Formats: sequence, structure tokens, C-alpha cells
Amino acid sequence: MAESQTSTETDWVSRFADDVIAESERRAPGKPVVVASGLSPSGPIHLGNLREVMTPHLVADEIRRRGYTVRHLISWDDYDRYRKVPNGVPGVDASWAEHIGKPLTSVPAPAGSAYANWAEHFKAAMTAALDELGVEYDGISQTEQYTSGTYREQILHAMKHRADIDAVLDRYRTKKDPAAQGKGGKKPQQQKKVDEAELEAAEGSGAADEDDGSGNSAGYFPYKPYCGNCEKDLTVVTSYDDDTTELNYTCSACGFAETVRLGEFNRGKLVWKVDWPMRWAYEGVIFEPSGVDHSSPGSSFVVGGQIVREVFDGVQPIGPMYAFVGISGMAKMSSSKGGVPTPADALKIMEAPLLRWLYARRKPNQSFKIAFDQEIQRLYDEWDSLGRKVADGTVLPADAAAYSRAVRTAAGELPSTPRPLPYRTLASVADITAGAEDQTLRILSELDPENPLTSLDEARPRLDRAENWITTQVPAEARTIVRDEPDKELLGSLDDQGRESLRLLLEGLDTHWSLDGLTTLVYGVPKVLAGLEPDAKPTPELKAAQRSFFALLYRLLVSRDTGPRLPTLLLAVGADRVRRLLGA
Ligand SMILES: [Zn+2]
Repeated sequence: MAESQTSTETDWVSRFADDVIAESERRAPGKPVVVASGLSPSGPIHLGNLREVMTPHLVADEIRRRGYTVRHLISWDDYDRYRKVPNGVPGVDASWAEHIGKPLTSVPAPAGSAYANWAEHFKAAMTAALDELGVEYDGISQTEQYTSGTYREQILHAMKHRADIDAVLDRYRTKKDPAAQGKGGKKPQQQKKVDEAELEAAEGSGAADEDDGSGNSAGYFPYKPYCGNCEKDLTVVTSYDDDTTELNYTCSACGFAETVRLGEFNRGKLVWKVDWPMRWAYEGVIFEPSGVDHSSPGSSFVVGGQIVREVFDGVQPIGPMYAFVGISGMAKMSSSKGGVPTPADALKIMEAPLLRWLYARRKPNQSFKIAFDQEIQRLYDEWDSLGRKVADGTVLPADAAAYSRAVRTAAGELPSTPRPLPYRTLASVADITAGAEDQTLRILSELDPENPLTSLDEARPRLDRAENWITTQVPAEARTIVRDEPDKELLGSLDDQGRESLRLLLEGLDTHWSLDGLTTLVYGVPKVLAGLEPDAKPTPELKAAQRSFFALLYRLLVSRDTGPRLPTLLLAVGADRVRRLLGA
């Protein structure tokens, strides 16, 4: 924590915190600092949408560390219309299409869900992930806000000033880009490198595609009722009286028509481009980021900036655009689940601090990928190496800040693994043992015999994450299967050199039975064969000899040319079985 208190310019989070505090003190001195995120529970909330939360969360947390009170609002946009039936959601079939146009809270939850409706179902998974990630926030259901009349004054005000709103919208209509609507909207033409997963992720948030209330022959109205008969938003306002607040609408879906008084009516909402700036003003939001598409002239952030000032007498928040978050290793995920991963999926294969770190170390305008493939092992190596630099004081200030934001919040440390053994080692052990606990404990204890593990709990939760990664993300053909019987044919075909290399290895097993010892042994055997000292510098010839020796061991142990790192593999296979498979 010290680093963020002594320096306010260490990283992007600190710089935003400086700006947000200054702006908050100018606008609302002495009041809590308000930052905001918006999430639409229109389906599984994808990892890409997590940036919508993590960006203000990290800034809010920095501000809390400096001793200020912060409200991080997460607006659940659960009163948005149900736009489409997402693919690949268990318990959902094409019949859900009949609910398109209803509020998300009026759509039935997927079959078998414990939740009351569609929005609650998908909100629950995200809420659990945010808890695990240590994100502190005030959740606001827009269904609750609208249906309880919380925004009554703002709605009547917007209706009264509908001509002003129409005029603002009109400034952009000529240069309107239909792909740039909505908060997390997408713009496929301009995102050359966006893959399918990123597009799907981007679709998850905001009210993309919602109309802005224009194109009504009866005039411009920024408010839309949900139909009193079919609950859909395919309604058209046909008249409105400012004095009595009497509003007439007809439903183009079912033909229903009714007259209501907006002064007491609670079943409708402002169109997105008015709704968003209305809430900036209502909540006094100082900081709220949004997706990259908002740099375009007709985007809801840009239009909202005019509406909040000219109609609601408010100020647009500081609103950095964040770049897309991609996923590596998506092929398998897509085919098996029909969708892109959620934060809950990521938290099954990596610990919360690692996931927080990925968001903390990159500026919002930098895109990055979250690894579900082999890359996760390298990522964990990098994370562990950073931890060692923090511990020995050689870390750079910006890296220290990112590390600190990852492992703790203003409320305290996040849960960690007491003995954080290398992820790639844990993954290899899980690969070979298929999760057998006694075998796993034996192998992990033999990694460092001087300081053995007494219980698997010391290696958890990282061990569980590595096991999950192996079982859910590594394709069957990439899994390691240790031979049951020696490969007699291969053993019989070895020349003197080959037989001697195996003899030297087996001879050294007992005295080298640890991760470090076996590492020395497997690299040392080819040196001895070449007549070199154990600490000899590697030459190209020696490297070639080591490669072919390793390949021979892999063939004899797992019938392939490669596999988990050899010292780990040998420990996992066990000394007796190694002896048997190598022909002793
Ligand atoms: Zn209707």
C-alpha cells in the first residue's frame, strides 16, 4: 500500500484517481466520489465486459486507499429490452424468441435455473465472480428504479424538453453511424483484428441497437412504455400532454392501446441515449469508462455529453475508452460451449489476483488477451517472477503498483495460495495423476524433499485451478499418458550410447530424487557421455545430444517426442515405474 500513498504518479490508475478526486472536489465537495459501470444481463456476461467493471474498480480502490469514501455504482441494465436469444446457453431453446421486446426481468430464466427471471440468472453468475475478485460496489437494478418511479421527475423533465433532446440528436443524425449505438456497441468494419469472441463479448453490454425515439409521425418522444398487454416495447407514443402528463400509446405487436398518466405511470423507460446521461446527472457520476466505439461522433457517450449539459444541467463523467479484451485458446471453448468465457470461467483456471493483474497492468486503451491455452503457464511464470521481485525489492514502481492492485484492495488482502508452486508443475502433475490426491501429494512433496508439503491444502487454491485447466481446457490429444509397459522394441534397438545414457540416468535417480536434483541429472547425463564436466558450458553439439536424449526419454515414458518438463515427469511417474519403463 505504501507505494500508492507515497507517489500519485506510479501508473494509469493513480493518474485517473488524481483527476477523479480533483473533479469530485470541484463538483461535489465533501461528498462521496461516484464512479460507475453498466452491465446488461442479456445473456452470459463475458470476460470482455469485465473491463467495464475493473477499470472503475481499480480507480475506486486507489481512491479508497487514499482515505476517501467512494461509491462504485454497477447499474444492472435489466430493464433493457430482450434483444435476441443467445446461442449455446444451457436450458434455452428457440422458443425464448417469443419474449423478444420484453424487459430482461420479464423473460423466464433458462430451464432449471434457481432464479426468478432471465436477468437475475445471469446477474447471479457475475455477482459471484465480482465477490471473488474483491470488487466492492453498489448494485442498482434499473427495473427497480424505473418501476418504483424513482426517475419520475427526470422522465417528466425529458418529455417536457423533448424538442431540445431531438435537436441534440439531430445534430448527429446526418453523420449517424448505426453500428456505433449503445454502450458496449460494436463496430466490426473498423475493428480489423476483432475476432468472433471479442465481438460476442462486446455485444453483452449496453443497449446497442435500441432506437433513439425518432421516426414517430406523432412527434419526437424520448420515452417508451412497455405494452400493458404483451409487455413488449414495440409501442408507439401517439400523443402527450405536458400539463396533464396524459400519454397515449399503441402496441404494434398486439394492437393494444391505452391512455396513461406519466405522472403516475411506471412501466416504461427513457431511450438509451437519454437514459444514460439522465443517470450521470441523477447519480453525480464522476468517472465511467466505455467501449472503444465511443470515439465516433454519433456515439451515445458523445451525444450523452450534450444531453446531460443541455437538458439535465449535469456534467459528463471522465470517460476513458477501453480497448477490447481477447481470449487466447478460444477454439475449444467456442465449439464446446457455443460462447465466449465469462469471468467465472476464468476464475476456474486462475486465481483472482492473477486475473486482477491482467486488468491492472494494461492501460484501458491497450488491448490484451486472457489465456485459456498453454500461454497461461507462461503468464503464471511471469506473475511468480514479479512476486519474487516485489519480495526482494528489485521491482519497478509501475510493476509494484500493478502487483499491489492485484493482490489486495483497500479492504485487505485477497485469498492466496500458501505454497505457490509453479503453475506449470502443478498442471503437469494434475495431467499425469488425473487428480489422484495421494499420488499428487507424494509428487508435490518430492519436489523439494528438504521442505516437503504436508497437505495439499498448502498448494490450494492454485492446485485446483491448474487441475481445472488440465481437465477443461487441454484437449485429450495433448494430455500425457504414461506407458504401462516398457517399449521393448525401442529399448532393443538402442545402440551402446543410448543404453549407456539410460544406465547413467537410472544410476543417479536415488541421489537426485527432487526437482532440482533431477534437473541436474537429465542435463548432466549427455555431458558425462561427451566426456565433459557437469558444469560445462553448453555447445551446439551438447545441446543436440541433450535434445535427442530427452526425446528418447519421452518416447520411453509417454510414447511421444515431447511432454511435461522431464524432472516433473520423472517425479510424477515415480522411481519404480521409471526403472521399469527404462528397462532396468
Ligand atoms: Zn402489446
